[in-house]
Amino acid sequence: MTVTGIIERTSYIDGCWIEPGEREIKEHYSPIDTERLVGRSIQLTAADVDAAVQGARRELPNWSGLSGMERASYLFRAAQFLEERKEELAQLLTLEMGKPIGEARGEVQRAVLLFRYYAGEGMRSIGEVLPASDRVSLLYTTRVPLGVVGLITPWNFPVAIPVWKLAPAIIFGNTVVWKPAEHAAITAARLMQLLEESGLPPGVVQLVSGSGSVVGQRLLEHPQVTGISFTGSDAVGREVARQASARHAKYQLEMGGKNSSVVLADADLERAADTIISAAMRSAGQKCTATSRVIVEKPVRDRLTSLLVEKSGGIKLSNPLEEDCYLGPVVSKGQHESILGSIDRGLQEGARLLAGGRARTEGDFARGYYIEPTVLDGVEPQSYLAQEEVFGPVLAVMEADDLEHALELANGVRYGLAASVFTNSQQQARRFINGIEAGLVKVNGETAGVELQAPFGGMKLSSSYSREQGRAAIEFFTQVKTVLVTP
Ligand code: NAP
Ligand code: MG
Repeated sequence: MTVTGIIERTSYIDGCWIEPGEREIKEHYSPIDTERLVGRSIQLTAADVDAAVQGARRELPNWSGLSGMERASYLFRAAQFLEERKEELAQLLTLEMGKPIGEARGEVQRAVLLFRYYAGEGMRSIGEVLPASDRVSLLYTTRVPLGVVGLITPWNFPVAIPVWKLAPAIIFGNTVVWKPAEHAAITAARLMQLLEESGLPPGVVQLVSGSGSVVGQRLLEHPQVTGISFTGSDAVGREVARQASARHAKYQLEMGGKNSSVVLADADLERAADTIISAAMRSAGQKCTATSRVIVEKPVRDRLTSLLVEKSGGIKLSNPLEEDCYLGPVVSKGQHESILGSIDRGLQEGARLLAGGRARTEGDFARGYYIEPTVLDGVEPQSYLAQEEVFGPVLAVMEADDLEHALELANGVRYGLAASVFTNSQQQARRFINGIEAGLVKVNGETAGVELQAPFGGMKLSSSYSREQGRAAIEFFTQVKTVLVTP
């Protein structure tokens, strides 16, 4: 199946697709082939966002008035509808942002499961009964929606991240205004069409395409948007926090990472190298949980490094629509330049290039944003490559004297999203789990990859102390009402 047609309707408000009218139009080209047009997005204005918030407000009493089970039926239908159109959406996702097709299919399937999981939440407990101080009263808590929530999402998981916000938002009775990232606006539009076609009532979800500084900004300041759930960079996240707290809106931030895998001397090095390369290079390193640093115990440094180099050399770089693609292009010209710039900066600061390091431009790569899988070692703890999120297929190797030193290096960054340790020792694994400052910790596993039924989020600058996914989502998307009934 291939993607046909150019998507041009990218904003959906109160059950209607917005026509461009006088609004600015942006053309979106594929990172696989920069001459291939994927779609055109409508750049909404602040007044359009106001209309979207009004649409969400209008629907709120109806939607929040349904029972959880009634809302669940819409989510089950959305899941079914999405599953039947999985291939088409995956192809579009790959075309728009360059993720290998196998991973894109996995991402859409994840969205299907998220809708099913959160449909189930419509039938689970939303409160507790407490013993009242007298003998006759009923004291209980219940959870009520926040109201209209704004969702601001990034381009790197253009289907899964919006759905892991959308699905809990609506199952708990909120209505939504969703601002997708510029580099995911076309996939977002198709996802919205599918939700509409699956029967979701008008006004439950509005999609607002346009720039972060106009559309995103208006959501941050709109007095009737009660909550903002944001995933993206820490620079924008700080602004979200500042503006939301200034007007007393609830907010939730998921931001960057500088995720480490620590490899101890007793580890299975073959397995560690395979796992680390996968976590670093899949999705071209553009996952918030991607491994960007390997911290290896001295005695096995040389052996691990040569395995990493060997395995990165075996990676197939190709058009991501090819079935067996492992590494495709990065998302945009800006990211392409920024990643190559980070590698250069690393080299200037004394790192040694062991593999890759260059853009690929020959033959079929000529019109795409391809970068070789890159491994560097000798990366100093305070250098750019050790501290800053590169968000590309770039792995920095650092050496540690022992586990304590490895923990110090791993924790010596401002982020705390994901981390892993490779060891066969229970004791060392336990010490790592206790000592690492990260919201997600794996033993003998990839830093990347989250389970949808478990809480997800980071420590330090990676998050705002809140968690998404699983049962944890109820914390953000609802508020508690305590009730005392005396007969
Ligand atoms: P970004 O530049 O921060 O953008 C995120 C979203 O914010 C986009 O929709 C963007 O719109 C919007 N935005 C930009 N400026 C805004 C403003 N002034 N007001 C309101 N909204 C604004 O991040 P990105 O480049 O899309 O994504 C990459 C980043 O996301 C990385 O740092 C990555 O680590 C992080 N990430 C974190 C997680 C996690 O769960 N922790 C998951 C995935 C990604 P435009 O696109 O139109 O500018
Ligand atoms: Mg951006």
